[in-house]
Amino acid sequence: MPTYVRTDKCDGCKGQDKTACMYICPHDLMRLDKDGSETGHAMKAYNQEPEQCWECYACVKICPQQAIECRHYADVVPLGAQVQPLRGTDSIMWTIRFRNGNMKRFTFPIRTTPEGSADPYGDKGEADRSQLANPASLFTDSMHSCDTSQFMAT
Ligand code: SF4
Ligand code: SF4
Repeated sequence: MPTYVRTDKCDGCKGQDKTACMYICPHDLMRLDKDGSETGHAMKAYNQEPEQCWECYACVKICPQQAIECRHYADVVPLGAQVQPLRGTDSIMWTIRFRNGNMKRFTFPIRTTPEGSADPYGDKGEADRSQLANPASLFTDSMHSCDTSQFMAT
């Protein structure tokens, strides 16, 4: 289900250069229409290519105004149905609105540890950040070098 912005709720993240939804979108889809020239709604964000949306819902979860909702294509979910997550510190509550007005809510835990207490390395050593620019470091030590004799001549 791609996302869309409710212009009645979006406040443009109060005019910051990069809004929360723009910051979080891994596919760079969210834009802020500062002067309204692109959508007719000044200082409102929008999903510029819903068909390219990964449907990860990162933007939905981060929006401080709960202004981003999800809507499936009309051939799968009839128009009027909506899905809205509300993120808490240890769970997300999903509100499902059916076209006939029925509403259901589900709360799912999203953490197994208290917020801020996760150990990113666990029992592994800390990452060597100096290796981030080295393409060879993307491979593990246990990987075998490839047998170039298997390459086909062109
Ligand atoms: S994060 Fe929410 S309030 Fe901020 S610009 Fe995006 S849709 Fe609007
Ligand atoms: S659901 Fe994910 S990919 Fe789609 S606009 Fe939001 S952040 Fe971007």
